[in-house]
Amino acid sequence: MATILSGKEVAQDIRADIAKEVDRLKEKGVTPALTVVLVGEDPASQSYVTGKMRACEEVGMRSEVIRMPDTISQQELLDTVERLNQNPNVHGILVQLPLPPQIEEKAVIETIDPRKDVDGFHPINIGKLMIGDDTFVSCTPAGIIELIKRTGTSLKGKRVVVVGRSNIVGKPVSLLLLQEHATVTICHSHTQDLTAITKQADVLIVAVGRAGLIGKEHVSPGTVVIDVGVNRNEAGKLVGDVRFDEVLDQASWITPVPGGVGPLTITMLLKNTVKAAKQIENVD
Ligand code: NDP
Repeated sequence: MATILSGKEVAQDIRADIAKEVDRLKEKGVTPALTVVLVGEDPASQSYVTGKMRACEEVGMRSEVIRMPDTISQQELLDTVERLNQNPNVHGILVQLPLPPQIEEKAVIETIDPRKDVDGFHPINIGKLMIGDDTFVSCTPAGIIELIKRTGTSLKGKRVVVVGRSNIVGKPVSLLLLQEHATVTICHSHTQDLTAITKQADVLIVAVGRAGLIGKEHVSPGTVVIDVGVNRNEAGKLVGDVRFDEVLDQASWITPVPGGVGPLTITMLLKNTVKAAKQIENVD
């Protein structure tokens, strides 16, 4: 029977450390500050943004939401981002995705000053991750690594299978795993015989967005299973990509959904904002 890897508990530990760090920075006259831009009224986005604001407040950081209607033009949004780039009181900028169809996400991400890109989506930051330079690592991948480390599992030499190759989860987490000296296999919708590959994993990370894609037939005994997926089943309940109840018997560790990777994502955003504040204000 697997041990449940609670993201909530890990997140609480890390947030306590972040709160101390924020206090220390405040004594030096610097209060880390995050601004989130929210376009439109998508309920999921609104709830994510509320969670981010609450988390900032809890650790003593400053935070602000700029709300814009979903009818705005791309230029209006780019102008807003530019103003935030120039504002010395803003250390971290996050534009909540997805954006309405008239706005190209790529153009918006590329307009954010890479020094304030606390989501780690700017091509400069992704390029730095690729070559192993210090950078803002995007929050979900960073959170996944943090969770795996909390199991006491060393990634060095381990066989890690990542299912999903998106730019926000699958690819960056694979690069971080390589930095940890894991042997990484990335699977996607064209992968043949997924089961044969996932069964070889010491650590299995699933970031697809399909409820129940991974079952016990995919998992060998003793595997650490990290379920990134967030889906709603027919009953409207939040579920992951992994059939939790089935895999619980096979895995050594497993993350629940909700309460697994999610809380770590916001925590890493706080960490990145503190890092941005230190770099911009030039304080240690
Ligand atoms: P994307 O839709 O961008 O990517 C999904 C990936 O899964 C693609 O690479 C796709 O392959 C692959 N895929 C699709 N079907 C299969 C299949 N049958 N077998 C193997 N691979 C498949 O999703 P994201 O990476 O943005 O998100 C993944 C999930 O994680 C979602 O449920 C999302 O809600 C959740 N998420 C959770 C976060 C959290 O904080 N907890 C944060 C971010 C995401 P291909 O490239 O070939 O299309």
